[in-house]
Amino acid sequence: MNIIDYQFEQQHLWHPYSSMHAPAPVFGITSASGALLMRDNGQALVDGTSSWWACIHGYQHPAIVNAMQQQLQKLSHVMFGGITHEAAIALGRQLLALLPPSLTKVFLADSGSIAVEVALKMALQYWQGRNAPLKQKILTIRHGYHGDTFAAMSVCDPEEGMHTMFGDNVTQQLFAAAPTSRFGEPVSQEDIAGLQQLLEQHHSHIAALILEPIMQGAGAMWFYSAEYLKAARELCHQYHVLLIADEIATGFGRTGALFACDHAGISPDIMCIGKALTGGYISLAATICSDEVAAGISDSPAGAFMHGPTFMANPLACSAATASLALIANNDWQRQVSAIETQLKQQLATAAELPAVKEVRVLGAIGVLELHEPVNSGLLQSEFVKRGVWIRPFNRFIYIMPPYIISSAQLSKLTHAMLEVAALLPKMTSSQRQIVSHG
Ligand code: PMP
Repeated sequence: MNIIDYQFEQQHLWHPYSSMHAPAPVFGITSASGALLMRDNGQALVDGTSSWWACIHGYQHPAIVNAMQQQLQKLSHVMFGGITHEAAIALGRQLLALLPPSLTKVFLADSGSIAVEVALKMALQYWQGRNAPLKQKILTIRHGYHGDTFAAMSVCDPEEGMHTMFGDNVTQQLFAAAPTSRFGEPVSQEDIAGLQQLLEQHHSHIAALILEPIMQGAGAMWFYSAEYLKAARELCHQYHVLLIADEIATGFGRTGALFACDHAGISPDIMCIGKALTGGYISLAATICSDEVAAGISDSPAGAFMHGPTFMANPLACSAATASLALIANNDWQRQVSAIETQLKQQLATAAELPAVKEVRVLGAIGVLELHEPVNSGLLQSEFVKRGVWIRPFNRFIYIMPPYIISSAQLSKLTHAMLEVAALLPKMTSSQRQIVSHG
């Protein structure tokens, strides 16, 4: 039964945020379907992660599998320099039909972090083309997360992120305090004042403000006021700073709106999407900008946008994305996400009474238990696997972002396990509770 060579894999394969001296245990998965992951020992796990928030329609969805199989018969890859193909054009059309109308120019990238790199390069080149080459700094808000490449790291939270580790190699950017005003509530004057003050002082050097709209994900698992996002949009107009919305985690319905920007009724100048773009079947991301941003870049001294990865617009990935977007366009996600939200609110509420839990938060298909102290992810993960669920806690968060197609019974299994494991925490020693990674 056991077909996975764990010894080889422990000696030779890196896992995310892992040590080669003391690799954390890993679980072999041999197949997956719907909301279930099948282990090599035959155990089925209900997936509470959507494979890092991407697999929104569940595993082995026939529409996406068929689209990819058909594309594979015709063209799995061809370079995008000097060549185009129907898979990219079909995806471009589908995307523009869903995105805010002011976003018109699509750059297809390989992964979320690269989509962020592309967005930051776009912002810098835009100002070169508008005769404002001093605008080179990026403004962001604390507790953010935008990826692990160097420019993306520079706009992650300066304390929880990797700034200290890599020193001067990580560009110094500008950080406003994270918004404290909650989702569903008005924004406080202090939240706006902090952002405004930095813009007032530094706008002549600021190219763009980048933020995760509404949900600060990997850095905080926190949902903030839509009025803050609205105010940020207005301030960016006022101070001639581009707004970049990183919708990589929030895009395609996760927070209950198609894009999190929709909660505030705003359009950014540049938007990054990834993760659920292909329904989580294969890596693909995109950076989309307005006509004005594209025009500025084309007017820059380089006369062209300077990025072009080998696997840009990979046809196989485009076909998966087009099939996933067709599922999104039929709008079933709205009913699914709202049912998940209602159930999460009902079933997680009592967790607030547990001594280890600081707060329970639910938005759309996201359920979070914020704890008082960081946890040992590896240890907790084993507790979850024992209970037949796949949940990967990190830092002070036990959270789920299940596939939208999850059944009510499967979701109950996840919430039940969250309550049980959170109740175990006070019995663990402090060394067992220590943080081991943030991924
Ligand atoms: N931005 C946000 C908001 C993210 O949540 C992530 C990934 N968790 C990224 C960027 C980076 O994406 P990737 O892991 O695909 O590089």
